Amino acid sequence: MPATHSTRMLILGSGPAGLSAAIYGARAGMAPIVVQGIQPGGQLTTTTDVENYPGFREVIQGPWLMEEMQAQAEHVGARMMWDHIGEVDLSQRPFRLIGDGGTVYTGDVLVIATGAQAKWLNLPSEEHLKGKGVSACATCDGFFYRGRKVAVIGGGNTAVEEALYMTNHSHDVTLIHRRDSLRAEKILQDRLFAHPNIKILWNREVETFVGGGEPEGLVALDLKDIRTGAIERIDVEGGFVAIGHSPATELFNGHVELDEDNYIKVDPGSTRTSVPGVFACGDVMDKIYRQAVTAAGTGCMAALDAEKFLAEADFEANAPKQAVNA
Ligand SMILES: Cc1cc2nc3c(=O)[nH]c(=O)nc-3n(C[C@H](O)[C@H](O)[C@H](O)COP(=O)(O)OP(=O)(O)OC[C@H]3O[C@@H](n4cnc5c(N)ncnc54)[C@H](O)[C@@H]3O)c2cc1C
Repeated sequence: MPATHSTRMLILGSGPAGLSAAIYGARAGMAPIVVQGIQPGGQLTTTTDVENYPGFREVIQGPWLMEEMQAQAEHVGARMMWDHIGEVDLSQRPFRLIGDGGTVYTGDVLVIATGAQAKWLNLPSEEHLKGKGVSACATCDGFFYRGRKVAVIGGGNTAVEEALYMTNHSHDVTLIHRRDSLRAEKILQDRLFAHPNIKILWNREVETFVGGGEPEGLVALDLKDIRTGAIERIDVEGGFVAIGHSPATELFNGHVELDEDNYIKVDPGSTRTSVPGVFACGDVMDKIYRQAVTAAGTGCMAALDAEKFLAEADFEANAPKQAVNA
């Protein structure tokens, strides 16, 4: 018979959003259970240097930061469960989540913090050089490439924003796009075309991320002209893949309202989803900022929203009923 774990506050996901919700939830007496998923600690465990999380003067390591967050959450009373959820039932409270091995988790409130994953080109050379010059986040890693030649790959809003952002650090930014026009909003395109430090290579796709040096890092990109098949090499030390993100919301499709890009919809200025008692925080509901500190911030909001929801629900359940015809 599979085990059942029940709590006031169930949290799905153990990145900065889920763990921040856990810290606030535990301190508010909601005894949270965090179902960690197959990536305990979330996306930051896949990177090395983190220089923009407040509170640390020195560069810190992503996996270390997440270990500290988890230790803090456990220290204040949150329980971690290493499981992956494959099925949810949000039709009634307590909400039910079912792990791949059949374990059942129930919560009076649910905080969804399942994050998002950057889309990659899926080239072996890209995988090999991730963190060594190849990145999917200019806001996170751009600072490490100041004064260097860099390229941004993509043609949507994210790519154009990342190319513009990189001009804060580099005087030589190349945008590489496989079509002959951009999908980005016109206002962004206008800013891009007007920028003296950005050039655009149209109709090109990355064939290979080229490594070199000691320690090895990105030194060039081999680009294929998709009209002629010709290969050309450009020298760059930073390559930013900006072809979009996929929020981890498949599990919730049909259960909570999603937007046109499959992010969880929340009421403006809150973490409330379309299902009362279900809250969403972090990258799963934020397609704009996508930073550890913003994920932690919305994680805090989710715990406070959840606490308020439970307090109101408890009050209604315990309030004396008004006498009929009194
Ligand atoms: C390479 C890289 C470098 C980065 N560098 C920085 C940086 O320097 N500074 C910065 O601020 N940000 C950085 N970011 C962005 C930052 O990591 C994210 O914004 C942040 O991790 C989002 O936190 P989150 O908690 O919303 O989700 P995530 O960190 O994505 O965590 C999602 C969690 O949900 C769990 N999960 C998902 N589906 C399920 C399921 N079905 N069942 C159970 N669990 C599930 C996962 O296991 C994971 O624990 C970087 C991102 C990457 C990829």
